[in-house]
Amino acid sequence: MASYAPPRLFECLPYDIHFEVVRHLDFVSALKLASTTRFFHQTLDPRVIHSGEEVEKFIRERDKADQSRVEGLFACYHCYRFLPKDRFAKKATFERQSKKGQKITDEGRRYCFDCSAKYRVYEHLRPISNGKLRYYFCHNCGQYKTKSAKCEGPPLDIDWEHDEVPASCGLKPVTQRSGLDTLPAHLLKMIVSHIGYDDALHLAMVTRTLKETVQPVKWVALHTRFRFLRDKWAMDTLDVEIDAMEAFPCYMCCRTRPRSKFTKNQLHMVDKYRQSSWKMRCQGCVQRIYHGHGKNLMKTEYKRRRMCEICKCVRRGRETCGGCMELYVKGAIDRRTMYPDTTLNRHHDYGIFLNRLDGLFDGQDWEEG
Ligand SMILES: [Zn+2]
Ligand SMILES: [Zn+2]
Ligand SMILES: [Zn+2]
Ligand SMILES: [Zn+2]
Repeated sequence: MASYAPPRLFECLPYDIHFEVVRHLDFVSALKLASTTRFFHQTLDPRVIHSGEEVEKFIRERDKADQSRVEGLFACYHCYRFLPKDRFAKKATFERQSKKGQKITDEGRRYCFDCSAKYRVYEHLRPISNGKLRYYFCHNCGQYKTKSAKCEGPPLDIDWEHDEVPASCGLKPVTQRSGLDTLPAHLLKMIVSHIGYDDALHLAMVTRTLKETVQPVKWVALHTRFRFLRDKWAMDTLDVEIDAMEAFPCYMCCRTRPRSKFTKNQLHMVDKYRQSSWKMRCQGCVQRIYHGHGKNLMKTEYKRRRMCEICKCVRRGRETCGGCMELYVKGAIDRRTMYPDTTLNRHHDYGIFLNRLDGLFDGQDWEEG
């Protein structure tokens, strides 16, 4: 929560000195300084203080290094932000390994939707797709609209800063941000971490801002997501033989996906070893785990996962089990069950430890073909 610590000595110096300090640092160090405290984050913007060349070099390096990351963010070479793919025109986000993609990165020719609107990159009312939806950019009112709300008429010869919206653009949609929309992302994240996976998915559908901010797969607690998918699958496939099932859950991307999205090996394993079906993951996720290069967050996450023998939910090794925590709060299990390591006398009670190891060895290790 917010703390009101007294300002530190260095913070009390005049802005000119902060400015000079940042100017003499290399760009990465400047970024680090700007992220040390809230004060510096709000007052220092290394992107503005440093020369464009330096910033661009940094952005380009990060953009290239980002290829194997799970997040799949792309750099905008004009506002120097890393944004998700759907904030760019589709043709600006070719795979970075491909020739066209490399060319865009090398020449720094990628504009996000905000920047392309600002610099009028696309022609008046020409359709632009981000891979999901098709937008029409209007030079008169400076807005992207979908087909149903698209503006009409030729570009007018008026000053772009003009306050009046031309009649051909229709009324500006009333988009007053209200309620949850106005909350900062970290508060939303905290709220989402306490609600069910289905509630989080619904929340992300309420408004466009929430859709862009809320990330159910990352924010909802692991055991909650797991339980939702597992129970839904169990309900959907009640009395259905495995061979006849049309959809399966992927516990990595947390979606229920059609049979065709899973490898033969995965389907075989779920049939043969029902007790380890919590490892089920779709073909796309298998590929992301085993064929990515460099730092692979998904692989790390996958390797940390264990099945909790007490609450029968997925947990992460070395983290307190979220499912057990819930049971403990409800009073269903006692503290000794929840924290066996800390409450037992290590010298006398080996038997209990050995029992707890059971779960580690009876599950077959899944090999990918
Ligand atoms: Zn931009
Ligand atoms: Zn318009
Ligand atoms: Zn998946
Ligand atoms: Zn547990």
